[in-house]
Amino acid sequence: MNVHDSERLSGLLEAAGYAPVIAGESADLLVFNTCAVRENADNKLYGNLGQLYERKLENPDFQIAVGGCLAQKDRKTIIDKAPWVDVVFGTHNIGSLPALLARAKHNGEAQIEILESLETFPSDLPTKRDSTYSAWVSISVGCNNTCTFCIVPSLRGKEKDRRPGEILAEIEALVAEGVIEVTLLGQNVNTYGVEFGDKGAFAKLLRACGNIDGLERVRFTSPHPAAFTDDVIAAMAETHNVMPQLHMPLQSGSDRILKEMKRSYRSEKYLGILDRVRKAIPDASISTDIIVGFPSETEEDFQETLRVIKESRFAICYTFQYSKRPGTPAADLPEQISKEIVQERYERLLEVVNDLAWAENKLQIGKRVEVLIGNSEGRKDDRTHRLTGRARDSRLVHINWPVELAAPRPGDLVWAEVVDAKPYFLIADAGITPEVKRTRAGDAFDAFEEASCATPVALSKPRMGVIDLNVSVKSND
Ligand code: SF4
Repeated sequence: MNVHDSERLSGLLEAAGYAPVIAGESADLLVFNTCAVRENADNKLYGNLGQLYERKLENPDFQIAVGGCLAQKDRKTIIDKAPWVDVVFGTHNIGSLPALLARAKHNGEAQIEILESLETFPSDLPTKRDSTYSAWVSISVGCNNTCTFCIVPSLRGKEKDRRPGEILAEIEALVAEGVIEVTLLGQNVNTYGVEFGDKGAFAKLLRACGNIDGLERVRFTSPHPAAFTDDVIAAMAETHNVMPQLHMPLQSGSDRILKEMKRSYRSEKYLGILDRVRKAIPDASISTDIIVGFPSETEEDFQETLRVIKESRFAICYTFQYSKRPGTPAADLPEQISKEIVQERYERLLEVVNDLAWAENKLQIGKRVEVLIGNSEGRKDDRTHRLTGRARDSRLVHINWPVELAAPRPGDLVWAEVVDAKPYFLIADAGITPEVKRTRAGDAFDAFEEASCATPVALSKPRMGVIDLNVSVKSND
């Protein structure tokens, strides 16, 4: 969600006359998009702001803005701690940023504007995507659940659903620009429709994506196990461009801890969903999120988590050590687990999830996979001559590519045989006469490169940088 918001912030600022800062130049404006979900968000922010103090003294025209979840939560504290910040804005009004910057400059004083409910869906704002072939599409924001470890409901508010027509129109417009892959985005995608009273809305939306010509890959993140229904499984299995991939947070395998977390499903329900998904989509890769060391977690609870993880045969587990988030109910629970125990369980967990991921990846050896060549991932590695992209099930694939052949463009599709597997990626061979499908996304990449060379950005434009303070996501990817 934050990455999506950062793309919107860049798009808004470009529409307002800014240009992206180039390496080696100084920016006229820096925007920090913060995240309060992970630990140390505030230390990171204030560390960064502290480093900018001297620069602000030297050049009072240089502007600093802070937005995102931490800004929503801490509001005035940011200006109290770093009075040289020009603008503080929340998660609900990112569209106001250009006006707030102009107002701060004109009035010569900091502007703090935080709204309590959403002003405009982020997807309705201009965007500057990093990728020519892939895009996020927000279908809902906010969450009606109250997981006790999570700060999201208090910062992003209750779930708000976009109307299906608007979502599909946005996807069609993206496809017309050359996008061939979309990821439907929401805190809780499978409760989509709750606001306008249609429980089957998410499955219907997936099926409607199947009717969009030129849309090759559809993904979504994240569904909640409590609301996961069989109509969604059927829609996934029966819609040709919905990818065989499911990321569904488990968080804990212990029913007692799930109850403490206020996650309203139990491990058997979770495993039952995976069974039905695998029956309907046998080649589905399944990933999850796990929190270790939630307050009062015993060794027995932890063993339950390991049991459910092993039974689930996850392709990837994103693993997190529990840490207190001020403002969440779990932060006040009495039985907090010591750092040493959390660390020790975390290390055992990593060993199990790494072994599982490796075993699951080894099952891919010998298969021929379709790989969508990625933007930053797509560049040829000079040492190994490998290309990188994602398979249909989202596995990361490095492809041996003939030295003498030109590389396909980001957004093109390549077929290759998997020859080796590591815990978090596959190695595949394209052969001496690789099979490549040139796509509209690849053409869009060419057009973008040509346009960037032909029309250098006007030097007179102020330069900006949007810094996503959530980039250090802990993952095994
Ligand atoms: S469902 Fe997800 S976003 Fe909603 S409260 Fe739980 S963890 Fe947070």
